Amino acid sequence: MFDNPDLKLTGLAYVDGEPVVCGNCDSGFSLQIYKRGFREVWPAWITCLSCGKGDDHQVITNGLVDAALAARTGRQKAEDRDTFTAEWRGIVMAGELVPEFVLDDAVAGAKVLRDEVSKETKAWWQSKKKAAKAQVKAKAGAVTGAAKEKTRDAASTAKAGALTTAWTLQTGGAGPAEAPKAKRRRCTVKGCRGGMVTLSTRLHSSTGKTREVKIPCGVCHRSST
Ligand SMILES: [Zn+2]
Ligand SMILES: [Zn+2]
Repeated sequence: MFDNPDLKLTGLAYVDGEPVVCGNCDSGFSLQIYKRGFREVWPAWITCLSCGKGDDHQVITNGLVDAALAARTGRQKAEDRDTFTAEWRGIVMAGELVPEFVLDDAVAGAKVLRDEVSKETKAWWQSKKKAAKAQVKAKAGAVTGAAKEKTRDAASTAKAGALTTAWTLQTGGAGPAEAPKAKRRRCTVKGCRGGMVTLSTRLHSSTGKTREVKIPCGVCHRSST
């Protein structure tokens, strides 16, 4: 008979402004109310989850419990609370019921889960990007030495072609697509200063000495214009 309470209260409930408490331990925070018998005027049975005792209530009747059940708001949305304010034969009772699971709770739960997952995915991608960035940097550094060697040998190459080659060798073919964003502050291309790259070459010098040629950086110069 006491398996399924008619009202599972959460927090304090009030009857005519007075908090409803357990007759045994005076706690009012985990009471359960059962209708008992078939007459409206008969007292309802109240059990206390704190102390485990139960007793007839002095004021709350079966009729008042019915009125509370009729008045309860129920829940539709996850943020809803299940409250009631009921009146029966001049006695007013107000309180809140332990929330019953509604579909929206599942939806809200799924949303929280989705947010968590997308956060983790983002972090994963960021770590990937970081790794890619480091790789580009290492590549650009390693190729610089080789670029100097090669430009020395390729004496007959046309100017444009030579510069392109030097660019490719020096930067490891770094281009805008491969370059990570937010490059403004510090360009990873070796020899790039403020969007201009200085290439060391002997190709275009009439004296045969190594000359420095400045060309716009294909990574940061392009993206900043
Ligand atoms: Zn108690
Ligand atoms: Zn640059």
